[in-house]
Amino acid sequence: MISGPRILLVEDDEDDVFLTKAYLDESFGKSYSFEHVSNLPDALRRAKESAYDVFLVDYRLGSHNGIDFIQHINRDLKLMVPVILLTGQNNRETDISAMEAGATDYLVKQNIDARALERSIRYSMKQKQAEEHIQFLAYHDALTGLPNRTLLFDRLKTILARFARNKHYSSLLFLDLDNFKNINDSLGHSVGDALLIEITRRLNEVIREEDSISRLGGDEFIVLFPEISRNKEETAVKTQKAAERIIHSINQPIIVGSEALHIGTSIGITLFAGLDTTSPENILRHADTAMYAAKSAGKNTARFFQHEMENTVKSKLTLENELRKAISENQFEILYQPQVCVNSEKILGAEALVRWMHPEKGMISPVLFIPSAEQSGLIHPLGELVFRAVCNDLPNFSDIPRISVNISAKQFHALDFVEKIDGILKEYDASPEYLELELTESALLADIDDTALKMKELKDMGFTFALDDFGTGYSSLTYLKKLPFDVLKIDRSFITDIIENRENAGIATAVIALGKALHLSVVGEGVETAHHLQFLKDEGANSAQGYYISRPISATDLVTWINQRIAC
Ligand code: C2E
Ligand code: CA
Ligand code: CA
Repeated sequence: MISGPRILLVEDDEDDVFLTKAYLDESFGKSYSFEHVSNLPDALRRAKESAYDVFLVDYRLGSHNGIDFIQHINRDLKLMVPVILLTGQNNRETDISAMEAGATDYLVKQNIDARALERSIRYSMKQKQAEEHIQFLAYHDALTGLPNRTLLFDRLKTILARFARNKHYSSLLFLDLDNFKNINDSLGHSVGDALLIEITRRLNEVIREEDSISRLGGDEFIVLFPEISRNKEETAVKTQKAAERIIHSINQPIIVGSEALHIGTSIGITLFAGLDTTSPENILRHADTAMYAAKSAGKNTARFFQHEMENTVKSKLTLENELRKAISENQFEILYQPQVCVNSEKILGAEALVRWMHPEKGMISPVLFIPSAEQSGLIHPLGELVFRAVCNDLPNFSDIPRISVNISAKQFHALDFVEKIDGILKEYDASPEYLELELTESALLADIDDTALKMKELKDMGFTFALDDFGTGYSSLTYLKKLPFDVLKIDRSFITDIIENRENAGIATAVIALGKALHLSVVGEGVETAHHLQFLKDEGANSAQGYYISRPISATDLVTWINQRIAC
């Protein structure tokens, strides 16, 4: 077998062919392959038919020249093979035009000897290899070797143009792994990388040769099924089955080191026919929208894109834009809901609850805009605005032991959260001893190490912490013991029907007992009746919050409310 370079010499002078061949023999001995043609048409035909590592091309070729050859193989044949031009004269202009046309090297015949020729061949091959590698990187993802977004778009354009006339349906699947971030954050990036590589392998296993996979980055993959059928329904059914196969394959445990990881994927599907119906950008956008629908439907499932979905996305965008404006104009007001001691009914604290005072729509509940603020990242400026408003109100609340502020998961995990909070405290000369931060369970689980570290930092500053909505999330004792909470808030849903629902009453009783065992102060939320209050009292909870005591009220009303109670 020949291991050295495969060389095609394009040369019309017999003496020069003889000489060049002699130099090559001297350099490579028997370990190279050599072919020779004497004109441009033959050269192009051979280049098309066979694989070569290098072309040695005479600059003067009858009515053509070597530059014509370079242009043909680069532009028409799109070959990545180095070309070394050989010329009879040492001419600066020829040299420059050769390099501009894309020749890898340029040798003057009189100066050639075996060593110069060998050096040039080896150097040109190395350079082409490097170029090829760079090209590969520009179109592929470095981790998995899959095509990247650029190559995907190129392919989509080709498919759309090719199938514009025959109207075959193709489908595109947008995959987003469920909870990949948790694995990456808790087990480290090398485990995350290994997981992505294994997912790539499994995807390759379940698809056909004509299908293709790309990685958009992070945990997002695209699977493209070109030209499935002329019938839309048939395309949908086949794609649905393929999506199910993909989900099943990804759901099988993935062993990385000593860990068996379980991962799901949400898939958005869109069908498309030809270039006249859509563009690559639209296809990807539709599949992305459908993927979000799959996430909302409970994850680890597939959803088809429907045009109605676009409206949901549009109204989401409108809300986001309005919210952005509302933040810059501060259309928000903070209400406070008192918390009282179950025995003495003395005020122990108040919870700050934000309201959006929309200029046309009136008051909007946080239940309607906090999720959108979290998704869009607007929770950061909004959370800051709430914290500022509370610090500003604080001097009026000298009779209230502490004010609690709700902090969303995203806000809490921001890198500069502590720094921001500290800055605002200084600005308002506010003391953290009067402030409590309310976190929900989902906020903690997202990143338990970061949570523990930040809580400790904030506790050292003087803040206290309440665990909000307890009982609705994972309610894991392990992390409850790990994290320095002061207060446990039993979710409203357990209190609401303690009278009718014995099971809920049982949970509420257990949670109060648990809180006490962990030396936490227990607050019952959603106290709407005297019965609710009595229940909390009997079970040994510390405090109560709810409409029975007071609805959330403005800062001014809260001060009046307290003064009236002190007076009685
Ligand atoms: P949450 O932290 O569980 O707040 C308690 C919610 O229960 C409040 O709803 C309050 O008005 C309501 N509530 C209080 N007592 C009763 C009662 O006796 N019966 C009933 N049916 N409801 C009662 P709100 O103010 O609409 O807030 C809803 C949620 O929005 C809050 O739930 C909290 O998760 C979030 N939120 C409110 N303000 C903020 C904020 O400033 N930042 C963040 N990140 N989230 C906030
Ligand atoms: Ca709360
Ligand atoms: Ca709550």
